[in-house]
Amino acid sequence: MDIKITNMVKFYTLLLLAERDKHGYEIIKEISSRTGKTVSPGQIYPFLKLLEKRGYIKSGEPTKRDKTQYRLTKDGKAFVQTMLARFGDLVRLAVEPSIEECAHCGCKVYSGGYKKKIKNRQLSFCCQYCAKSFKI
Ligand SMILES: [Zn+2]
Repeated sequence: MDIKITNMVKFYTLLLLAERDKHGYEIIKEISSRTGKTVSPGQIYPFLKLLEKRGYIKSGEPTKRDKTQYRLTKDGKAFVQTMLARFGDLVRLAVEPSIEECAHCGCKVYSGGYKKKIKNRQLSFCCQYCAKSFKI
């Protein structure tokens, strides 16, 4: 049985567990806040169960107040490494919006910006004034 990473929720679940041990609800909260999308327990818990069955994660014994916390096993860590190697570039593109920096002042250009070709290099600036004052 192989585990297929078919959506971002699954990907993030593994990524978050690779950062540190987490509760299911922490995973839900963090994916929601990172992707800006609502994540339901139904998207997380069956996947956690599957990971556990496969031996990729272990759930700790719930203590009195604490809920179950999940931890990547050695196999799980290896699986995440493989996943990152396979999807790393793709994911970086999908997750991080392509934020450019102004070549002159270094500020982040979130939208629009000003492009200018200088000495055969296409450069990005935050505004035309930065483009004007830029010298190679
Ligand atoms: Zn600038």
